[in-house]
Amino acid sequence: MRVLGIETSCDETGVAIYGDDIGLAAHAVYSQTDIHAEYGGVVPELASRDHIRKTLPLIHQVLDEAGLGADAIDGLAYTAGPGLIGALLVGSALGRSLAWAWGVPAIGVHHMEGHLLAPLIPTGLESPAPAFPFVALLVSGGHTQLVEVQAVGRYRLLGESVDDAAGEAFDKTAKILGLPYPGGPALAKLAERGDPGRYRFPRPMTDRPGIDFSFSGLKTFALNTLGQLRTSGEDSTQGRADIARAFEDAVVDTLVIKCRRALQQTGLRRIVLAGGVSANRRLRARMTEAMEAIGGQAFYPPLALCTDNGAMIAYAGWYRLSAGQREPLAFRPRPRWSLEELPPLDG
Ligand code: ATP
Ligand code: MG
Ligand code: FE
Repeated sequence: MRVLGIETSCDETGVAIYGDDIGLAAHAVYSQTDIHAEYGGVVPELASRDHIRKTLPLIHQVLDEAGLGADAIDGLAYTAGPGLIGALLVGSALGRSLAWAWGVPAIGVHHMEGHLLAPLIPTGLESPAPAFPFVALLVSGGHTQLVEVQAVGRYRLLGESVDDAAGEAFDKTAKILGLPYPGGPALAKLAERGDPGRYRFPRPMTDRPGIDFSFSGLKTFALNTLGQLRTSGEDSTQGRADIARAFEDAVVDTLVIKCRRALQQTGLRRIVLAGGVSANRRLRARMTEAMEAIGGQAFYPPLALCTDNGAMIAYAGWYRLSAGQREPLAFRPRPRWSLEELPPLDG
């Protein structure tokens, strides 16, 4: 079965085609970053309008790149939530309509299930895909969650952030440091030049049992540290790089500590990272090291499939459609939607 996937939950328009016979035949992402940059964050109404402009041209583009006509597509998958309601409506309405016009089934995909399954997409590029069961660490702009994954659709939430998501903390701290939006990758780059010994930020909520996260205090820590630098007349690129490094080390250490706890609690040995922050190099290096030390194993999506993309939606949709899951013509985007509400594939 060949599935065309459409992602429009936030500020990336992503379209891809995945099929068991052709693999990931084509995928394209258009990022709206430039549109939102001057506002320092995503403006929902502008996001919806731009998805309207970009989704159909991207669909034509991936069909061309895959060398396929519409008649070669057996199913449509679109992101149904969670995300911005206007943005979700664009992809949902378009995906559902195309499926109806083409006479093929359609399915609304959970955006975080898409992220979660991205490391399983056979692209032939990265290390082998993880086998079930595993623990997933979802680290993105809107989520920080540890999830026990028994199979597709069998998810148990082990812990999550009580305030800012990891990516959100990266972005807000980057803004404090004067870096352009979206700040995560820029902060990581600046941290490369930072002295890891200069500042030590706390590892929030690691001094007590449990696997929930809290990242909002770290940006305050960064703000106060920058304030001290300013007062003492030492504000410089190096000083800011030292702060970036202290922040990144604190986030990475905290994530690693909680992942170890989640494996201990579940008795599992495989940890699978997904979402935008899983592109972070220091996080990958430390996580791999920590897993090796305890006889576990860490898995990551290819770099291009960490942040939002259509491939993960095509793949998650393909999984469910080829297992026979079907939906009625009526569609209902869900801005808020828990992974635990998803139906398992095996009944
Ligand atoms: P969600 O998936 O929760 O709805 P989202 O779709 O906005 O949120 P993603 O596209 O998965 O999130 O990821 C974007 C986030 O990842 C941003 O916060 C961005 O700063 C962060 N990010 C991307 N690359 C890196 C990196 N190398 N280091 C740290 N953070 C990064
Ligand atoms: Mg985005
Ligand atoms: Fe996302």
